Amino acid sequence: MVEFWAEKRKIPSLDSAIKSYIVRLFNITGLMDNISPSHDPAELSDTLLDWYDENARQLPWRIRPGSGERPDPYAIWLSEIMLQQTTVVTVIPYFEKFIQLWPTIGDLASAELDQILSAWAGLGYYARARNLHKCARYIVGELNGNFPDREQELLRLPGVGPYTAAAIAAIAFGQKATVMDGNIERVMARMFNVTTPLPEARPELKAWAERMTPDHRAGDYAQAVMDLGADICGAKILKCSGRCPWEDNCQGNTLGTADQLPRRKSKMAKLTRRGYAFWAEYQGHLWLCRRPESGLLGGMMEVPSSEWLETDSWDEVPMPQIPIIANWKETPGMVRHSFTHFHLELKVIRLELLEMIELQEGGWFPFSRIENLALPTVMMKIIDHLKEPVLDL
Ligand code: SF4
Repeated sequence: MVEFWAEKRKIPSLDSAIKSYIVRLFNITGLMDNISPSHDPAELSDTLLDWYDENARQLPWRIRPGSGERPDPYAIWLSEIMLQQTTVVTVIPYFEKFIQLWPTIGDLASAELDQILSAWAGLGYYARARNLHKCARYIVGELNGNFPDREQELLRLPGVGPYTAAAIAAIAFGQKATVMDGNIERVMARMFNVTTPLPEARPELKAWAERMTPDHRAGDYAQAVMDLGADICGAKILKCSGRCPWEDNCQGNTLGTADQLPRRKSKMAKLTRRGYAFWAEYQGHLWLCRRPESGLLGGMMEVPSSEWLETDSWDEVPMPQIPIIANWKETPGMVRHSFTHFHLELKVIRLELLEMIELQEGGWFPFSRIENLALPTVMMKIIDHLKEPVLDL
């Protein structure tokens, strides 16, 4: 667009910094719309919808554009909750498993929380699974099994934040709603050359996204931007040339800044927490406890452990207070896992009991049942770490 503007005014070439400045100036003053008629938001959204009609990803919860079928709000809600913080590829088998186990919201509401947590195991962020159950029971108990169709009402449901509410309103009910996530922020930052770093850039990006949201085909448009961000305007791979429907209108593409956008404030390095896991077994049974309902991995079963302390090295980790007085042995190596905000290192100390003892907390679980328990990934890593000795029993 700037090239077009420069050409019109007989400016032979502009270096990228000057171009960027001019574009920002036009963006701020709202003059950009006067430069090129092809920048009309309605035209751009129609271009994207045409592209979507030809290129929509086939996903198990999605209705093909133009099929005339109505999306199932339960499937859309379930998929959107699963997609929070998780990739489409990871979600697909979980979605299919859930739909097979619980085909309707009524079925999901009737399930026990442990069954849901168990089916969820491996997807991470387990608060989502607990909220899924809470929300299903609320919709069945209080709303007669019907999802609300407005963004504001959807926002009141457990586990439904602004992104999910907008996605359900648009995709399941065709309401005009602007969906914002990392993919869409990236597309908007590039399309409008927004150089303010994230997170400060968010209001500006949202304003652009709202401006681009059309009055018609709200669900298809939301999914089209999602697909564009996922497949064409990727975080690492950009397929601008010949593949992107907005190629000719994209400021980031014109200015050559797209691959540097969106900008982010430099992140603090993740800290490491360290502790000891207590692996106690008795004749094919393992000692497991349930974590408190609130907080990290809330309500999940765990191999008990000492406090996870933030330290620079193992030298700073004190020997743990042993929960059962007996002959514990430290196993070689350690278990490593990364959470969103920290890395975790666990050394595992092991106890093989010859006699059953009464436990202050938790219980003895047969190894044959472990697969059916809601054990989070980090706990499965501990089990894998000790798999060979366990099989020897
Ligand atoms: S032209 Fe390139 S940078 Fe711009 S929206 Fe398309 S893929 Fe993204």
